[in-house]
Amino acid sequence: MAKYELIIKGGTVVDPSQSIHERQDVAFNYGKVAAVEPDISDNLANEIVDATDAIVTPGLVDLHVHVYWGVGHYGIEADPTQVAQGVTTAVDAGSAGAWTFPAFRRYVMERSATRLYALLNISSMGMISPKIGELEDLRWADVEDATSVGRANPDHILGIKVRLSQPLTADHDVDSLKRAIEAAEELGKFVMIHVGNSFTPMHELVGMLRPGDVVTHAYHGSAHGAMDDSGRVYDGIVEAQKRGVVFDIGHGRGSFSFALAEKALAQNFLPDNISSDLHIYNIEGPVHDQLSTLSKFLHLGLSLDEVIRLSTSATAKTIGHADEIGTLKPGAEGDATVMRVSEGKFTFVDSLDATVEGSRELEHVATIRGGKLYKPYLW
Ligand SMILES: [Zn+2]
Repeated sequence: MAKYELIIKGGTVVDPSQSIHERQDVAFNYGKVAAVEPDISDNLANEIVDATDAIVTPGLVDLHVHVYWGVGHYGIEADPTQVAQGVTTAVDAGSAGAWTFPAFRRYVMERSATRLYALLNISSMGMISPKIGELEDLRWADVEDATSVGRANPDHILGIKVRLSQPLTADHDVDSLKRAIEAAEELGKFVMIHVGNSFTPMHELVGMLRPGDVVTHAYHGSAHGAMDDSGRVYDGIVEAQKRGVVFDIGHGRGSFSFALAEKALAQNFLPDNISSDLHIYNIEGPVHDQLSTLSKFLHLGLSLDEVIRLSTSATAKTIGHADEIGTLKPGAEGDATVMRVSEGKFTFVDSLDATVEGSRELEHVATIRGGKLYKPYLW
C-alpha cells in the first residue's frame, strides 16, 4: 500500500501561515496534510497531481458568499461556484435567518463538498426577498430566536450578520446592530456588518463593534463610506481597525471601487481579509469568482503572498479555525488550491463598472478537498 493517498508534485508552495514560498511537494493522507517536502517520490502515492509551473496554496477560504440556492434570492449553488473554483471553505453571510436556517443546514451545508459555515442573519427571515428589506420591521430582528438557533448549531454558525443599508433597515440601523451584537454576545461569537448607504455613517457604526467583529464592504463606493469628501479615511475607521475590528472587502455587485481601494491603500487602510460576496447578481460579472477578486488585489499592488494570506490564514483566524484550515501544516485538513499566475492583458471591472487593465491573473488549475482531487463527476 502506498504511503500517501495523493501528492501534489512540482509546484511552488505559497503558504503564508508557515512563511513558505518555495518549490515543495505536498502529500495527503487520511484526508489531512501529511507532509510538505522538497521531493516526495512518486512511488509513495496512489495519485499524483502535476503542479509544474503552478502555485500550490492552502485551500482558499471565502468569508462572504451566498449559497442558499432557491431560498435566499441571492443564492447560487455552492459546489460549482466554490470548491470547483478553488474555494474549499466558504462562509454564507446571512442568507439564512433563524426561521430559514434549519433547511440551509440540512439541504445545503450537509450536502456540499465545499466546507460551509454560516453567519446567521439577525433578521429571522434571512435574505429571501428582493422587494422587502429584511429589517424594515424590527420585529424580524428577534434576538431570542437568533440565539436559540445559534445555540443549537454551534459548529455551523460562526456568528451573526446584519445588513445596515437604508433600504433594508430604514432609520433603525443602530437598533438593528444593537440586537445583532446582543445575540452575538449571548453566543460568544462575532458580528459581521454590511455597510453602504447606511442611515448612520459607517465611521459611527464601527464604533459600536468589538475586536473580532467584521465590517464587510470596506471599500464600497456608496454613500457613507470609509472616507470623507476629501478622500481621507475617517479617524473612527482607523481607530476601529487598530482595536481589532476586521475590515473585509466583500466585493459584491455594489461594494467595491478601484478608485476608493487605491486611496485606501495609499493611506495604509489595508484590508484584513479579501472576500468575494459572490452571488447571483455578480457571478457573471463583475465578480465571477474568488480568484478574480484576488487578482484585482494583485493588480492594486499587494504581493502574491499577501493576497493569498488574506484568503487563507487571515480568514481562518477571523473565523477561529486557524489550526485546521487556511494552512498546509501537517495534520491540518487536506485542502489545497492549485493555481497559475497567467501573464498577459486582462480587463478587471469593479462594482461601479470602472475598468482597469492588469497584467497578471490567477487561474484555477485544481482543488484538493479532504485529501482528494475534487472531481465533481466522481464525488
Ligand atoms: Zn453579501
